[in-house]
Amino acid sequence: MMKNEQPTILVVDDAASNIDILLELLSDDYDIMVALDGESALELASKESFDLILLDITMPKMDGYEVCTILKSDDATKDIPVIFITAKTDEKSIEKAYKVGGIDYVTKPFKFLELSARVKTQLNLKFLIQNLEHIASHDQMTNIYNRGKFFEVAKKKFQNSFEDLYAAMIDIDKFKNINDKYGHCVGDKVIKSVAQAISKHLDEGSVFGRLGGEEFAIVFNTDSLDKAAQKMDAIREEVSNIEIFSDDNESVKCTISLGYSKAKDDTKSIDALLRDADRGLYDAKDAGRNKSIFRDSR
Ligand code: GH3
Ligand code: MG
Ligand code: MG
Repeated sequence: MMKNEQPTILVVDDAASNIDILLELLSDDYDIMVALDGESALELASKESFDLILLDITMPKMDGYEVCTILKSDDATKDIPVIFITAKTDEKSIEKAYKVGGIDYVTKPFKFLELSARVKTQLNLKFLIQNLEHIASHDQMTNIYNRGKFFEVAKKKFQNSFEDLYAAMIDIDKFKNINDKYGHCVGDKVIKSVAQAISKHLDEGSVFGRLGGEEFAIVFNTDSLDKAAQKMDAIREEVSNIEIFSDDNESVKCTISLGYSKAKDDTKSIDALLRDADRGLYDAKDAGRNKSIFRDSR
């Protein structure tokens, strides 16, 4: 769900009369899409992103149980809460609804207030979980991946393919001086601005995280060492242009050092790739800072 938009719900029922009732009941508060059979429900769910699915059990060809089983087996749709809507009230049917991954069920004929309360409850729960997941995986100050999430996602990327895969380690130069001279608040602002400046140069597939303190890491794809070098330099340049003002309106500037590396056939792990980049970072510090240095694996 985007900000200021209504939650989106997919309503699946083979009976148009039920769809009409649900539309009337829900369309003031929610963005509703409908499907009249299981196949089109699955097709819609793979294309659009829904916050919740209301799913009829008894449908010709593919029934609701089967639809739900497929939804729950796909990473892209498994977290969408499914509420079954059913005329069945026997215990076996209800047990099965939960077994295939349903989170709740409502019986037909609909009781309007009950249905809307159950929908609301599940949506609240879903957004709560989403928020908690975000908090658990992102650094609060910069809103980029925290250390744990960075390694989790970077590792997956490495395992998928290390073709044209690069890693960079980035550290703010003489950051202690900034803290000492202007205070921690200004230091924090610098960390935030640096994270933003780096973000500007990253495309969608890049993995970017704050590893701790004033240290960041990136795992990214690019088609040549030249382009990787250009990217590093563009980031370094962008950061050197950051200007922040202290409480006394003094201009505060900063620079970063970067080390980067390229994955090769014998690169054993994402940790090894990042270690090479870290060696480059040390070299960049040794060479006087505000530099980016490539470090081949050894
Ligand atoms: P170098 O160029 O060698 O990297 O020097 P440096 O001063 O940046 O290196 P050092 O690692 O000694 O200092 C990092 C400092 O970053 C020390 C620590 O107090 C500060 N720091 C770590 N996390 C935060 C934070 O969240 N906010 C602020 N303001 N400072 C932080
Ligand atoms: Mg530093
Ligand atoms: Mg450091």
